[in-house]
Amino acid sequence: MHEGLRIAWREAVAQARGYVDGDDPEPVLAGLGLALVLSATGAQTSAEEGRALGSAGARALLAGDAGAEQDEDHGWARAIARAGLDALAGRPPSLEAIADPVHPPAGRLIDMLDGRPDGLSAGACAAHVLGCARCAAALAVA
Ligand SMILES: [Zn+2]
Repeated sequence: MHEGLRIAWREAVAQARGYVDGDDPEPVLAGLGLALVLSATGAQTSAEEGRALGSAGARALLAGDAGAEQDEDHGWARAIARAGLDALAGRPPSLEAIADPVHPPAGRLIDMLDGRPDGLSAGACAAHVLGCARCAAALAVA
């Protein structure tokens, strides 16, 4: 795993462990985006960390369901988070609504490997890679 992604993942797991209902769910949802990056890159993490993020992530998604405004960005973030939750649970994530529609440039793939620019954007890029043999092959040699 790239160092940037390792750091971002550790921070996301720490946020998840500290997450209590009523907190801003955004950092936990972004952590679920990173779970998609891990899935796309085959990076290994501890099962315990995955459970911590999955548990907090499910609660963060529920909290968002109860939230008032549901703008487009909000729906996008939640769709990525839901796919990340599926990936953590070993279910095939639903990628159609969230994957970047075009092949990302090499620079974006490299950013994704470090969890940049943020967990949700990296997760959207990872969703593309998960559904694209060409980009998955490009990553395999990166
Ligand atoms: Zn592609």
